[in-house]
Amino acid sequence: MHEPDASTRELMAENESLRARMAYLLEQAERNHEIMCRHQAFDLQIVGAGSFPELVGTIFRTLPVISELDIVTLSLVDEDADIYTVMHKLGVDFEQFPHLMFCEQAVELGFDLASGRRARPLLGAYAPAQHCAMFPHPPAGLQSVALVPLMRNTRLIGSLNLGSADPNRFTPNLGTDFVEHMGSIIAICLENVISNEMLKYIGLTDSLTGVYNRRYMDRRLLEEIARARRQGYRLSCMYIDIDHFKRVNDTVGHQGGDEVLREVSARIKAELRMSDALGRFGGEEFVVLLIDADLEAATMVAQRIRASVAAQPVDLGSGERVAVTVSIGVAGLSDFDREHAIEGIAQDLVATADSALYQAKAGGRNKVVTIA
Ligand code: GH3
Ligand code: MG
Ligand code: MG
Repeated sequence: MHEPDASTRELMAENESLRARMAYLLEQAERNHEIMCRHQAFDLQIVGAGSFPELVGTIFRTLPVISELDIVTLSLVDEDADIYTVMHKLGVDFEQFPHLMFCEQAVELGFDLASGRRARPLLGAYAPAQHCAMFPHPPAGLQSVALVPLMRNTRLIGSLNLGSADPNRFTPNLGTDFVEHMGSIIAICLENVISNEMLKYIGLTDSLTGVYNRRYMDRRLLEEIARARRQGYRLSCMYIDIDHFKRVNDTVGHQGGDEVLREVSARIKAELRMSDALGRFGGEEFVVLLIDADLEAATMVAQRIRASVAAQPVDLGSGERVAVTVSIGVAGLSDFDREHAIEGIAQDLVATADSALYQAKAGGRNKVVTIA
């Protein structure tokens, strides 16, 4: 065997380095493929989220893991706090989401929103003073951040804020295609779940008073009877009707009457527990479902409501004040007849409360009557 000549040695060396480079590129490709797969799974997961808490929960739980980030936060533009209010009323527990923030105006998010230009992600070193609104609870060692605008058409709906302990993870000259793509999918998903939750809320509530509507109460009543049967607790029902409401409308006008309806429902609500359900059944009639309350307890609550409405006249804002009273019928469900269908039991319960109400009216109004 003779020694390879110089040019062969050169070729072999080049071959060696090309192989090494190839191995490196293959490794990179595999790694990128893996990242892409994880992100595709994430995209599917957020697209499939059925509710607001499920969506934001997935973003906060999964994104830091698959993207190897040290923190992910979300700021949502919420003029008039509509989103916050509706989610709260639908039972979303915001304490579960310490990395979710709301701001009143899009400009607060700090993107360049000059007309006609799409807001661009802001990448760079973490600066506590500048980023405190996006990262109110930053992890120790946070070094670089990416603030990704969430756009729907031309509207900025929020900001997805990514943070890393690696100073080179997000630098100003880094390409932003990837985070922009992620931002657009998250923006679509957010808009979808938020409008679905809004629709859910509208379908459940009475727009004048904000309490539940009849459709919701009818359904809830069936659910509660079934549960009370299973778990063996008491269920009581109140039927409340404003006295001489026609007269109220005649003296203060329909708008004044509406204000009275709002105030009366607020006073009723103030006497109830979180677990009770208050609904407007139509006109000036309200139904309350008291969970785990026997007739005695329900009658006491009814007396409190009656007294609170009668205690002081309703202020109509215009300086005008109008005195109103309510009559209340109370009925309860205690012994469960397992032979009866739930629908029939529900109808009987409300009908009994209604006839107690009728007796309260006949007895002179501003009264509570309980039928055992
Ligand atoms: P009673 O003490 O016997 O209950 O007398 P009432 O005048 O309250 O009796 P009734 O149930 O006949 O009258 C209810 C009135 O409520 C009639 C209707 O004009 C009024 N009403 C129904 N819905 C609304 C509403 O959304 N806004 C206002 N302002 N009035 C309403
Ligand atoms: Mg009535
Ligand atoms: Mg009435």
